[in-house]
Amino acid sequence: MEYRFLGSSGLKVSALSFGSWVTFGDQMDVEPAYECMKTAFDAGVNFFDNAEAYAMGQSEIIMGKVLKKAGWKRSDLVLSTKIFWGGEGPNDRGLSRKHIFEGANAALQRLDVDYVDLIFCHRPDIDTPIEETVWAMNLILQQGKALYWGTSEWSAAQIRRAYDFARREHLIPPTMEQPQYHMFHRDRVEGEYAPLYDEIGLGTTIWSPLASGLLTGKYNDGIPDDSRLALPNYEWLRKMFETEETAQRIEKIKQLMPVADELGCTMAQLAIAWCLTNEDISTVILGASRAAQVTENLQALEIAPQLDGEVQERIEEILGNRPAEEQNWRGM
Ligand code: NDP
Repeated sequence: MEYRFLGSSGLKVSALSFGSWVTFGDQMDVEPAYECMKTAFDAGVNFFDNAEAYAMGQSEIIMGKVLKKAGWKRSDLVLSTKIFWGGEGPNDRGLSRKHIFEGANAALQRLDVDYVDLIFCHRPDIDTPIEETVWAMNLILQQGKALYWGTSEWSAAQIRRAYDFARREHLIPPTMEQPQYHMFHRDRVEGEYAPLYDEIGLGTTIWSPLASGLLTGKYNDGIPDDSRLALPNYEWLRKMFETEETAQRIEKIKQLMPVADELGCTMAQLAIAWCLTNEDISTVILGASRAAQVTENLQALEIAPQLDGEVQERIEEILGNRPAEEQNWRGM
């Protein structure tokens, strides 16, 4: 396993990590969740991602039970939760001091741990002053309930405002952001956030590297019965994929598959390896509905070094984004 610093912090996270969205609770109970996490942990994964919203708290309960069963040393783990959607009550969502305090306490109880390493503001809350949120996160860290705090899907301007306020008030600034990033969703990570990596030392824990499975190629000929897009509670997600844009993406995936073949890897491994080659990514959070997918996806680590300039150029051409010579950020 490769370990990367989380931005400019001293914390090292495995370059590939594992998250529980959709899967824990809706697709898996404790046993299969244990198999997935153990497969990941045995390969050196140290970061396991969660959120209060996932399966309405069930995901944290399942992860807590897996941790108990596995008995791993706490210092070998980097655990996270994310706060925003904690329930139906007027104060159960958002980033008020009250919900951050109560949400964090409830998450710790469900995970059955004394602290999480990372706590994220799962979305921006336009109804709460950023200053209140920064103060609340500072409080959670001072209380030892979390060690680093960050954001998820905040704009660069919102992150900068939180950072500047924290610095001015001698509070702990955000360390990391959790954005969506994959071959078809790049602008924010590669463009909007670009100045933040050097200027404030922002780390990134990126989500949906396979675009919910699309980038495995499994949806090229329709929706398999045993896949995420066929799940009864996720019609909303399936609807998001029933677009002309998705049809065009599938055509590109069909052209990318021969590139994977030539490298001797699967389409999933190519897509994950591609994320790994971006040095501004601290960790790529994998999702999997079974342990065999974890095993397959972890092998992307061996594929990443094969994505040299020539391969990257072919991928860029297929994706049809920008001329390859503009891709300096990839360190080609
Ligand atoms: P991916 O885009 O990698 O999708 C993972 C899903 O794709 C799996 O659950 C599985 O679904 C399918 N899959 C994975 N590997 C394979 C394979 N080798 N072959 C075939 N199918 C495969 O990641 P996620 O969308 O799950 O996101 C990863 C993590 O990121 C989440 O668990 C969560 O921790 C975090 N996240 C954060 C968000 C945020 O707002 N901050 C939002 C979303 C995710 P199936 O088998 O059921 O088809």
